[in-house]
Amino acid sequence: MFIDGKWEQAEDKATFDVFNPATGDVISKVADGSQKDIISAIHAADKAFPMWSSLTAYQRSGYLYRAHQLMMDRKEDLARTMTLEQGKPLAAARNEVQYGADFLLWFAEEAKRVYGQTIPSSRPDQRFMVIKQPLGVVGAVTPWNYPVSMITRKLAPALAAGCTVVLKPAEATPLCAIEMFKIFEDAKIPKGVVNLVTKLDPKPVGEEFVTHPMIRKLTFTGSTQVGKMLAGRAAQHMKRISLELGGHAPFIVYDDADPVHAAKGAVLVKFLNTGQACISPNRIFVPCDRVDAFATEFANRVNAMKAGNGMEQGVKIGPLVGPDAIAKVENQVADALGKGAHLITGGKRLTDGALEKGYFYAPTVLTHVTRDMLIFREETFGPVAPIIAYDPEDDVIAMANDTEYGLAAYVYTTNMSRAMTAFERLRFGIIGINDINPTSASAPFGGMKDSGMGREGAKEGINEYLETKLGGFSI
Ligand code: ADP
Repeated sequence: MFIDGKWEQAEDKATFDVFNPATGDVISKVADGSQKDIISAIHAADKAFPMWSSLTAYQRSGYLYRAHQLMMDRKEDLARTMTLEQGKPLAAARNEVQYGADFLLWFAEEAKRVYGQTIPSSRPDQRFMVIKQPLGVVGAVTPWNYPVSMITRKLAPALAAGCTVVLKPAEATPLCAIEMFKIFEDAKIPKGVVNLVTKLDPKPVGEEFVTHPMIRKLTFTGSTQVGKMLAGRAAQHMKRISLELGGHAPFIVYDDADPVHAAKGAVLVKFLNTGQACISPNRIFVPCDRVDAFATEFANRVNAMKAGNGMEQGVKIGPLVGPDAIAKVENQVADALGKGAHLITGGKRLTDGALEKGYFYAPTVLTHVTRDMLIFREETFGPVAPIIAYDPEDDVIAMANDTEYGLAAYVYTTNMSRAMTAFERLRFGIIGINDINPTSASAPFGGMKDSGMGREGAKEGINEYLETKLGGFSI
């Protein structure tokens, strides 16, 4: 752990194991922080806050630029660590490191654009001035599926704004967090400004983050269930929160779209990170007379994807994170097949040769998926593509909106007015129109409804870490 500028073991020397999900091997042991360690980290961040928040934006920006440069220098090592502990193919890990580094660069720049305003008053003797100030100490919780970029997406804007931070990374991926904190240390970010607590049981950390009087804000990326629980607790202590939670993205193919082009896009985004992404399509709506062409193209592409250890050349499908993830996918597929879905390809665990020890599931395509199936409602977080046939006369946007989630949605059409209508009517925070990657450090990422609140990245991202203060001056 990294607390107050020093690398620390747990106070009671406890550790927990880190696994490679492709092989099941234990690859490392990391500190299993105690309650005392959590509190020390919060105190360190609190102590550092007056100094860090009073630096100029240009000074804070300088640290972020340095961290960005170090991330680029260590891109390959970071990517390898990520593939080892998280499983995604090395090429995808490199992309994630680049995406993660982009946040440091973007917020190094945004740090200097935290503008206030003056407001005319109706009283001749009065002047209004509004300034933005950092919130204070931030508790950050990150997930395992994007173990590098979710750290910078939170920490870069927090640091740019002048906040100090305690981070708790996911228990499955602490090694990426440790590598990132070596970068922050080498970028000479002053002690106490960023603190890392690793812990197997996340609950006590979550509880401190939402109750401790020194913490002013919780930023959380993870499941909707945990996010709602933390939001409820945070409300009792009036902590600010940003939540980036689950998703259940629709992927709408209109009858004017080329089904082959749409299938190509759908495969690429569906199997990104083996389906373990909150923006992964979970309901693919295809006009009924296009389903065959779409599903055939889709399945051909899926069958060409190699599953295996992400360190191997050509692998496109890495392992799932663990046994629970496999069980969830198996359950959803069995439920769908039991209710009449057709299995086009996949539908089973992969256990041939070396795959046996890891958590591999075959990329799977289902057609004849209907509303009564679990997969129509529940987030899958795995490599299963459910295709739903719709009648072109149906209101497919209403069908797509029929979910409690609201993170990402995708639309394929060549008709401009359909594209615009879909963009405006879909109740999701991120809409890809003929675009399967509507994400960037410069663009606001976040969801509606059960997918959370707040935005990360973009100019919105830094606002999540700022207070608005009004001054009324009588002259
Ligand atoms: P997932 O299903 O993606 O693992 P979780 O919400 O369980 O989703 O985990 C996402 C992150 O939230 C991880 O860092 C995990 O340790 C953390 N987490 C889980 N439960 C809690 C909790 N009660 N308090 C704080 N963090 C938690």
